[in-house]
Amino acid sequence: MPFTLAPSYDDNPRLRDLVARLRAYLADELVPYERERGITPETELDRPTLEHVWKRSAELGFYGISLPPELGGQGLSFYELCALKEELTASGAALSHSVLGDMGGPLRVGAIVKYATEEQRERYLMPVVRGELACCFSITEEDAGSDVRRMTTTATPDGDTYVLNGKKVFSSAAPFADFAIVVARMAGTEEAYSAFLVDLDTPGCRVLDGEVPMSGQRMEGDLLFEDCRIPAANLLGEVGQGLRIGIGRITLNRLLHCPSLIGAARRAWDLSVEYAKNRVVFGQPLLAHQAIHHKIAEMATEIYAARAMVMATAAKADRGDNVSVEANMCKLFTSEASFRVADQAVQIHGKAGLTRGHEVEQIFRSLRMFRIVTGTTEIHKNAIAKGLF
Ligand SMILES: Cc1cc2nc3c(=O)[nH]c(=O)nc-3n(C[C@H](O)[C@H](O)[C@H](O)COP(=O)(O)OP(=O)(O)OC[C@H]3O[C@@H](n4cnc5c(N)ncnc54)[C@H](O)[C@@H]3O)c2cc1C
Repeated sequence: MPFTLAPSYDDNPRLRDLVARLRAYLADELVPYERERGITPETELDRPTLEHVWKRSAELGFYGISLPPELGGQGLSFYELCALKEELTASGAALSHSVLGDMGGPLRVGAIVKYATEEQRERYLMPVVRGELACCFSITEEDAGSDVRRMTTTATPDGDTYVLNGKKVFSSAAPFADFAIVVARMAGTEEAYSAFLVDLDTPGCRVLDGEVPMSGQRMEGDLLFEDCRIPAANLLGEVGQGLRIGIGRITLNRLLHCPSLIGAARRAWDLSVEYAKNRVVFGQPLLAHQAIHHKIAEMATEIYAARAMVMATAAKADRGDNVSVEANMCKLFTSEASFRVADQAVQIHGKAGLTRGHEVEQIFRSLRMFRIVTGTTEIHKNAIAKGLF
Protein backbone atom coordinates (compact mmCIF):
# COMPACT_ATOMS: atom_id res chain seq x y z
CA MET A 1 0.00 0.00 0.00
CA PRO A 2 1.49 3.43 -0.89
CA PHE A 3 2.28 5.90 1.86
CA THR A 4 -0.60 8.04 3.07
CA LEU A 5 -0.64 10.70 5.76
CA ALA A 6 -4.03 9.44 6.94
CA PRO A 7 -3.66 5.65 7.20
CA SER A 8 -6.78 3.47 7.01
CA TYR A 9 -5.31 0.36 8.75
CA ASP A 10 -7.06 -2.03 6.36
CA ASP A 11 -4.98 -4.94 7.65
CA ASN A 12 -6.59 -4.64 11.10
CA PRO A 13 -10.43 -4.57 10.82
CA ARG A 14 -10.99 -3.56 14.46
CA LEU A 15 -8.57 -0.66 14.18
CA ARG A 16 -9.85 0.33 10.73
CA ASP A 17 -13.40 0.63 12.13
CA LEU A 18 -12.32 2.46 15.28
CA VAL A 19 -10.29 4.99 13.29
CA ALA A 20 -13.19 5.57 10.89
CA ARG A 21 -15.66 6.03 13.79
CA LEU A 22 -13.28 8.33 15.65
CA ARG A 23 -12.67 10.48 12.57
CA ALA A 24 -16.44 10.78 12.08
CA TYR A 25 -17.02 11.80 15.73
CA LEU A 26 -14.25 14.38 15.63
CA ALA A 27 -15.23 15.91 12.30
CA ASP A 28 -19.03 15.67 12.54
CA GLU A 29 -19.61 16.31 16.26
CA LEU A 30 -16.67 17.65 18.22
CA VAL A 31 -15.36 20.23 15.77
CA PRO A 32 -18.88 21.67 15.14
CA TYR A 33 -19.52 21.66 18.95
CA GLU A 34 -16.38 23.74 19.44
CA ARG A 35 -17.17 26.03 16.54
CA GLU A 36 -20.66 26.79 17.89
CA ARG A 37 -19.20 27.71 21.27
CA GLY A 38 -16.12 29.53 20.02
CA ILE A 39 -13.80 27.07 21.78
CA THR A 40 -10.14 27.31 20.76
CA PRO A 41 -7.07 25.64 22.32
CA GLU A 42 -6.60 28.78 24.43
CA THR A 43 -10.13 28.88 25.86
CA GLU A 44 -10.31 28.51 29.63
CA LEU A 45 -12.39 25.36 29.88
CA ASP A 46 -15.14 24.85 32.43
CA ARG A 47 -16.09 21.51 33.93
CA PRO A 48 -19.51 21.18 32.17
CA THR A 49 -17.82 21.55 28.76
CA LEU A 50 -15.25 18.91 29.64
CA GLU A 51 -17.86 16.60 31.16
CA HIS A 52 -19.89 16.83 27.97
CA VAL A 53 -16.91 15.48 26.02
CA TRP A 54 -16.06 12.80 28.62
CA LYS A 55 -19.64 11.51 28.72
CA ARG A 56 -20.19 11.57 24.96
CA SER A 57 -16.83 9.91 24.33
CA ALA A 58 -17.72 7.27 26.95
CA GLU A 59 -21.09 6.66 25.25
CA LEU A 60 -19.27 6.09 21.97
CA GLY A 61 -16.82 3.75 23.70
CA PHE A 62 -13.73 5.95 23.26
CA TYR A 63 -13.20 7.26 26.80
CA GLY A 64 -10.74 4.89 28.46
CA ILE A 65 -10.89 2.56 25.46
CA SER A 66 -7.33 1.34 26.02
CA LEU A 67 -8.02 0.04 29.54
CA PRO A 68 -8.62 -3.69 30.06
CA PRO A 69 -12.26 -4.84 29.76
CA GLU A 70 -12.57 -5.39 33.55
CA LEU A 71 -11.96 -1.64 33.93
CA GLY A 72 -14.49 -0.73 31.27
CA GLY A 73 -12.15 -0.45 28.30
CA GLN A 74 -11.56 -2.56 25.19
CA GLY A 75 -8.00 -3.55 26.00
CA LEU A 76 -6.45 -1.85 23.01
CA SER A 77 -2.86 -2.64 22.18
CA PHE A 78 -0.33 0.21 22.37
CA TYR A 79 -0.19 0.08 18.56
CA GLU A 80 -3.94 0.62 18.29
CA LEU A 81 -3.90 3.32 20.97
CA CYS A 82 -1.14 5.19 19.12
CA ALA A 83 -3.16 5.04 15.89
CA LEU A 84 -6.19 6.57 17.63
CA LYS A 85 -4.16 9.21 19.44
CA GLU A 86 -2.68 10.44 16.16
CA GLU A 87 -6.20 10.95 14.80
CA LEU A 88 -7.15 13.17 17.75
CA THR A 89 -4.61 15.91 17.12
CA ALA A 90 -4.73 15.45 13.35
CA SER A 91 -8.39 16.53 13.54
CA GLY A 92 -7.44 19.98 14.87
CA ALA A 93 -10.17 19.69 17.55
CA ALA A 94 -9.26 21.80 20.59
CA LEU A 95 -10.92 19.34 22.99
CA SER A 96 -9.37 16.25 21.42
CA HIS A 97 -7.26 15.77 24.59
CA SER A 98 -10.45 14.78 26.42
CA VAL A 99 -11.82 12.16 24.01
CA LEU A 100 -9.71 9.15 25.07
CA GLY A 101 -9.02 10.63 28.51
CA ASP A 102 -5.49 12.03 28.21
CA MET A 103 -6.24 15.19 30.12
CA GLY A 104 -7.29 14.24 33.65
CA GLY A 105 -9.00 11.05 32.50
CA PRO A 106 -8.48 7.29 32.22
CA LEU A 107 -5.22 7.54 30.28
CA ARG A 108 -3.77 9.52 33.16
CA VAL A 109 -4.69 6.88 35.75
CA GLY A 110 -4.40 3.75 33.62
CA ALA A 111 -0.71 3.13 34.25
CA ILE A 112 -1.10 3.13 38.04
CA VAL A 113 -3.98 0.66 38.20
CA LYS A 114 -1.66 -2.19 39.13
CA TYR A 115 -0.57 -0.37 42.31
CA ALA A 116 -4.10 0.50 43.48
CA THR A 117 -5.91 -1.41 46.23
CA GLU A 118 -9.46 -2.64 45.61
CA GLU A 119 -10.81 0.30 47.62
CA GLN A 120 -8.67 2.82 45.72
CA ARG A 121 -9.88 1.39 42.42
CA GLU A 122 -13.53 1.76 43.40
CA ARG A 123 -13.18 5.16 45.04
CA TYR A 124 -10.82 6.88 42.58
CA LEU A 125 -10.02 4.99 39.40
CA MET A 126 -13.42 3.69 38.32
CA PRO A 127 -15.15 7.11 38.67
CA VAL A 128 -12.40 8.52 36.41
CA VAL A 129 -13.09 5.78 33.88
CA ARG A 130 -16.81 6.66 33.97
CA GLY A 131 -16.08 10.36 33.41
CA GLU A 132 -17.32 11.33 36.90
CA LEU A 133 -13.99 12.36 38.41
CA ALA A 134 -10.80 13.84 36.97
CA CYS A 135 -7.27 13.61 38.28
CA CYS A 136 -3.86 15.18 37.84
CA PHE A 137 -0.37 13.82 38.34
CA SER A 138 1.99 15.96 40.41
CA ILE A 139 5.69 15.32 40.71
CA THR A 140 7.36 18.53 39.40
CA GLU A 141 8.34 21.34 41.78
CA GLU A 142 9.81 24.76 41.14
CA ASP A 143 13.34 23.47 41.87
CA ALA A 144 12.80 19.84 40.89
CA GLY A 145 11.95 19.15 37.23
CA SER A 146 14.28 16.81 35.34
CA ASP A 147 16.06 16.19 38.64
CA VAL A 148 13.00 14.93 40.49
CA ARG A 149 15.05 13.70 43.43
CA ARG A 150 15.51 17.32 44.51
CA MET A 151 11.84 17.49 45.48
CA THR A 152 11.17 18.99 48.91
CA THR A 153 7.48 18.15 49.35
CA THR A 154 7.38 15.80 52.33
CA ALA A 155 5.03 13.17 53.68
CA THR A 156 5.21 12.60 57.44
CA PRO A 157 3.53 9.47 58.86
CA ASP A 158 1.31 10.31 61.84
CA GLY A 159 -0.86 7.50 63.20
CA ASP A 160 -3.15 6.32 60.44
CA THR A 161 -2.51 9.43 58.36
CA TYR A 162 0.26 11.10 56.34
CA VAL A 163 0.81 14.85 56.58
CA LEU A 164 1.87 16.54 53.33
CA ASN A 165 3.80 19.82 53.16
CA GLY A 166 5.21 21.47 50.04
CA LYS A 167 4.27 22.78 46.62
CA LYS A 168 3.91 21.11 43.24
CA VAL A 169 3.87 23.14 40.02
CA PHE A 170 2.72 22.59 36.45
CA SER A 171 0.25 19.78 37.12
CA SER A 172 -1.76 19.26 33.94
CA ALA A 173 -5.53 19.08 34.52
CA ALA A 174 -5.20 20.45 38.09
CA PRO A 175 -7.62 23.36 37.46
CA PHE A 176 -10.51 20.93 37.03
CA ALA A 177 -9.25 17.77 38.78
CA ASP A 178 -10.91 16.20 41.84
CA PHE A 179 -7.83 14.43 43.10
CA ALA A 180 -4.10 14.25 42.45
CA ILE A 181 -1.51 11.51 42.38
CA VAL A 182 1.24 13.22 44.35
CA VAL A 183 4.81 11.97 44.72
CA ALA A 184 6.48 13.20 47.93
CA ARG A 185 9.66 12.53 49.87
CA MET A 186 9.19 10.59 53.11
CA ALA A 187 10.09 13.08 55.84
CA GLY A 188 13.53 12.54 57.33
CA THR A 189 14.78 10.36 54.47
CA GLU A 190 17.18 11.17 51.64
CA GLU A 191 15.90 8.82 48.98
CA ALA A 192 12.49 7.35 49.93
CA TYR A 193 9.60 8.71 47.88
CA SER A 194 5.98 7.62 47.96
CA ALA A 195 2.88 8.26 45.86
CA PHE A 196 -0.44 9.33 47.37
CA LEU A 197 -3.99 9.83 46.17
CA VAL A 198 -5.00 13.26 47.45
CA ASP A 199 -8.52 14.69 47.29
CA LEU A 200 -8.04 18.30 46.25
CA ASP A 201 -10.68 19.52 48.70
CA THR A 202 -8.79 18.08 51.70
CA PRO A 203 -8.16 20.79 54.34
CA GLY A 204 -4.60 22.06 53.90
CA CYS A 205 -4.58 21.48 50.12
CA ARG A 206 -5.08 24.39 47.73
CA VAL A 207 -5.12 24.45 43.94
CA LEU A 208 -3.46 27.65 42.75
CA ASP A 209 -3.53 29.19 39.29
CA GLY A 210 -0.49 27.88 37.47
CA GLU A 211 1.68 29.66 34.94
CA VAL A 212 0.22 29.78 31.43
CA PRO A 213 2.65 27.96 29.10
CA MET A 214 3.48 29.33 25.64
CA SER A 215 0.78 27.16 24.02
CA GLY A 216 -1.69 29.50 25.73
CA GLN A 217 -3.62 26.49 27.04
CA ARG A 218 -4.85 26.97 30.58
CA MET A 219 -4.62 23.37 31.73
CA GLU A 220 -1.92 23.55 34.39
CA GLY A 221 -2.22 24.38 38.08
CA ASP A 222 -0.04 24.35 41.19
CA LEU A 223 -0.83 22.42 44.36
CA LEU A 224 0.03 23.81 47.79
CA PHE A 225 0.09 21.47 50.79
CA GLU A 226 0.12 23.01 54.28
CA ASP A 227 -0.20 20.33 56.95
CA CYS A 228 -2.54 18.49 54.60
CA ARG A 229 -3.56 15.31 56.39
CA ILE A 230 -4.58 12.36 54.24
CA PRO A 231 -5.60 8.82 55.29
CA ALA A 232 -2.87 6.16 55.27
CA ALA A 233 -5.21 4.16 53.01
CA ASN A 234 -4.44 6.71 50.26
CA LEU A 235 -0.84 5.58 49.94
CA LEU A 236 -0.47 4.19 46.41
CA GLY A 237 1.67 1.06 46.28
CA GLU A 238 4.19 0.81 49.09
CA VAL A 239 6.28 3.37 50.94
CA GLY A 240 9.37 4.01 48.79
CA GLN A 241 7.68 3.06 45.48
CA GLY A 242 6.77 6.65 44.58
CA LEU A 243 9.43 7.25 41.96
CA ARG A 244 8.93 3.83 40.42
CA ILE A 245 5.22 4.60 40.08
CA GLY A 246 5.91 8.14 38.82
CA ILE A 247 8.78 7.41 36.49
CA GLY A 248 7.35 4.09 35.25
CA ARG A 249 4.32 6.05 34.17
CA ILE A 250 6.50 8.72 32.58
CA THR A 251 8.46 6.23 30.43
CA LEU A 252 5.26 4.88 28.91
CA ASN A 253 3.88 8.38 28.66
CA ARG A 254 6.90 9.41 26.61
CA LEU A 255 5.96 6.89 23.94
CA LEU A 256 2.26 7.69 24.13
CA HIS A 257 2.82 11.42 23.67
CA CYS A 258 4.48 10.79 20.30
CA PRO A 259 1.37 10.05 18.22
CA SER A 260 -0.21 13.28 19.51
CA LEU A 261 2.81 15.19 18.20
CA ILE A 262 2.67 13.31 14.89
CA GLY A 263 -1.04 14.13 14.57
CA ALA A 264 -0.36 17.82 15.20
CA ALA A 265 2.41 17.75 12.58
CA ARG A 266 -0.01 16.04 10.18
CA ARG A 267 -2.55 18.80 10.80
CA ALA A 268 0.15 21.41 10.07
CA TRP A 269 0.97 19.54 6.85
CA ASP A 270 -2.71 19.43 5.79
CA LEU A 271 -3.17 23.14 6.47
CA SER A 272 0.02 23.94 4.55
CA VAL A 273 -1.01 21.96 1.46
CA GLU A 274 -4.44 23.59 1.48
CA TYR A 275 -2.92 27.04 1.89
CA ALA A 276 -0.33 26.44 -0.82
CA LYS A 277 -3.06 25.34 -3.26
CA ASN A 278 -5.03 28.54 -2.76
CA ARG A 279 -2.43 31.22 -2.19
CA VAL A 280 -1.41 32.82 -5.49
CA VAL A 281 2.08 34.31 -5.77
CA PHE A 282 3.75 35.58 -8.93
CA GLY A 283 0.83 34.42 -11.07
CA GLN A 284 0.51 30.88 -9.82
CA PRO A 285 -0.45 28.94 -6.70
CA LEU A 286 2.27 28.63 -4.08
CA LEU A 287 2.08 24.87 -4.57
CA ALA A 288 3.31 25.21 -8.16
CA HIS A 289 6.74 26.30 -6.89
CA GLN A 290 9.29 23.55 -6.53
CA ALA A 291 10.73 25.02 -3.32
CA ILE A 292 7.30 24.56 -1.72
CA HIS A 293 7.09 20.98 -3.08
CA HIS A 294 10.36 20.29 -1.34
CA LYS A 295 9.07 21.61 1.97
CA ILE A 296 5.87 19.55 1.68
CA ALA A 297 7.96 16.47 0.80
CA GLU A 298 10.34 17.01 3.71
CA MET A 299 7.45 17.47 6.13
CA ALA A 300 5.77 14.24 4.97
CA THR A 301 9.10 12.40 5.27
CA GLU A 302 9.56 13.60 8.86
CA ILE A 303 6.04 12.42 9.72
CA TYR A 304 6.63 9.04 8.07
CA ALA A 305 9.92 8.52 9.92
CA ALA A 306 8.44 9.48 13.28
CA ARG A 307 5.36 7.33 12.80
CA ALA A 308 7.41 4.34 11.65
CA MET A 309 9.57 4.36 14.76
CA VAL A 310 6.68 5.04 17.13
CA MET A 311 4.50 2.28 15.71
CA ALA A 312 7.43 -0.18 15.69
CA THR A 313 8.12 0.65 19.34
CA ALA A 314 4.44 0.35 20.24
CA ALA A 315 4.34 -3.09 18.59
CA LYS A 316 7.43 -4.06 20.56
CA ALA A 317 5.82 -2.90 23.81
CA ASP A 318 2.76 -4.98 22.88
CA ARG A 319 5.00 -8.06 22.70
CA GLY A 320 5.98 -7.31 26.31
CA ASP A 321 9.51 -6.16 25.53
CA ASN A 322 11.25 -3.46 27.53
CA VAL A 323 11.15 -0.31 25.38
CA SER A 324 12.67 2.22 27.75
CA VAL A 325 15.49 3.12 25.34
CA GLU A 326 13.23 3.13 22.27
CA ALA A 327 10.53 5.18 24.02
CA ASN A 328 13.12 7.87 24.74
CA MET A 329 14.37 7.66 21.13
CA CYS A 330 10.81 8.07 19.87
CA LYS A 331 10.08 11.08 22.06
CA LEU A 332 13.45 12.66 21.20
CA PHE A 333 13.00 12.22 17.45
CA THR A 334 9.28 12.88 17.27
CA SER A 335 9.32 16.08 19.31
CA GLU A 336 12.20 17.51 17.27
CA ALA A 337 10.81 16.31 13.89
CA SER A 338 7.26 17.50 14.49
CA PHE A 339 8.58 20.89 15.57
CA ARG A 340 10.57 21.09 12.31
CA VAL A 341 7.33 20.31 10.45
CA ALA A 342 5.51 23.09 12.32
CA ASP A 343 8.33 25.49 11.51
CA GLN A 344 8.04 24.67 7.78
CA ALA A 345 4.26 25.12 8.03
CA VAL A 346 4.74 28.62 9.48
CA GLN A 347 7.19 29.39 6.66
CA ILE A 348 4.72 28.27 3.98
CA HIS A 349 1.98 30.40 5.56
CA GLY A 350 4.10 33.57 5.56
CA LYS A 351 2.62 36.39 7.62
CA ALA A 352 -0.59 34.38 8.18
CA GLY A 353 1.50 31.76 9.98
CA LEU A 354 2.98 34.42 12.22
CA THR A 355 -0.39 35.83 13.20
CA ARG A 356 -1.42 35.26 16.78
CA GLY A 357 -4.28 32.77 16.91
CA HIS A 358 -3.76 31.26 13.42
CA GLU A 359 -4.01 27.49 13.75
CA VAL A 360 -0.52 26.91 12.38
CA GLU A 361 0.94 29.48 14.77
CA GLN A 362 -0.80 27.74 17.68
CA ILE A 363 0.50 24.31 16.59
CA PHE A 364 4.02 25.79 16.36
CA ARG A 365 3.84 27.03 19.96
CA SER A 366 2.28 23.79 21.23
CA LEU A 367 4.84 21.57 19.55
CA ARG A 368 7.72 23.71 20.82
CA MET A 369 6.72 22.73 24.35
CA PHE A 370 7.18 19.01 23.77
CA ARG A 371 10.94 19.34 23.44
CA ILE A 372 10.70 20.00 27.21
CA VAL A 373 7.44 18.51 28.49
CA THR A 374 7.41 14.84 29.60
CA GLY A 375 11.18 14.84 29.43
CA THR A 376 13.51 17.29 27.76
CA THR A 377 15.54 16.51 24.65
CA GLU A 378 18.70 16.41 26.79
CA ILE A 379 17.19 14.03 29.35
CA HIS A 380 16.04 11.69 26.56
CA LYS A 381 19.61 11.64 25.21
CA ASN A 382 20.94 10.86 28.71
CA ALA A 383 18.42 8.01 29.07
CA ILE A 384 19.24 6.58 25.62
CA ALA A 385 22.99 6.68 26.25
CA LYS A 386 22.55 5.13 29.71
CA GLY A 387 20.54 2.29 28.19
CA LEU A 388 23.15 1.64 25.51
CA PHE A 389 26.37 1.46 27.54
C1 LIG B 1 2.71 22.43 29.79
C2 LIG B 1 3.40 21.64 30.83
C3 LIG B 1 2.74 20.58 31.42
C4 LIG B 1 3.36 19.83 32.42
N1 LIG B 1 2.64 18.84 33.05
C5 LIG B 1 3.18 18.24 34.14
C6 LIG B 1 2.39 17.35 34.93
O1 LIG B 1 1.23 17.06 34.61
N2 LIG B 1 2.94 16.83 36.05
C7 LIG B 1 4.21 17.12 36.44
O2 LIG B 1 4.63 16.62 37.48
N3 LIG B 1 5.02 17.94 35.70
C8 LIG B 1 4.52 18.52 34.57
N4 LIG B 1 5.28 19.41 33.84
C9 LIG B 1 6.67 19.64 34.21
C10 LIG B 1 7.66 19.09 33.18
O3 LIG B 1 7.66 17.70 33.19
C11 LIG B 1 9.04 19.70 33.48
O4 LIG B 1 8.98 21.06 33.05
C12 LIG B 1 10.16 18.99 32.78
O5 LIG B 1 10.38 17.74 33.38
C13 LIG B 1 11.50 19.76 32.83
O6 LIG B 1 11.78 20.24 34.10
P1 LIG B 1 12.19 21.77 34.32
O7 LIG B 1 11.21 22.59 33.53
O8 LIG B 1 12.28 22.04 35.76
O9 LIG B 1 13.59 21.96 33.63
P2 LIG B 1 15.03 21.64 34.25
O10 LIG B 1 15.04 20.27 34.79
O11 LIG B 1 15.42 22.74 35.19
O12 LIG B 1 15.94 21.69 32.96
C14 LIG B 1 16.38 22.94 32.36
C15 LIG B 1 17.28 22.62 31.18
O13 LIG B 1 18.42 21.90 31.65
C16 LIG B 1 18.56 20.70 30.94
N5 LIG B 1 19.08 19.64 31.81
C17 LIG B 1 18.63 19.26 33.02
N6 LIG B 1 19.36 18.23 33.48
C18 LIG B 1 20.28 17.95 32.54
C19 LIG B 1 21.34 16.99 32.43
N7 LIG B 1 21.55 16.07 33.37
N8 LIG B 1 22.10 16.99 31.30
C20 LIG B 1 21.86 17.90 30.31
N9 LIG B 1 20.90 18.83 30.36
C21 LIG B 1 20.10 18.85 31.46
C22 LIG B 1 17.14 20.34 30.49
O14 LIG B 1 17.15 19.46 29.39
C23 LIG B 1 16.60 21.71 30.14
O15 LIG B 1 17.04 22.06 28.85
C24 LIG B 1 4.68 20.15 32.83
C25 LIG B 1 5.36 21.21 32.21
C26 LIG B 1 4.74 21.96 31.24
C27 LIG B 1 5.47 23.13 30.63
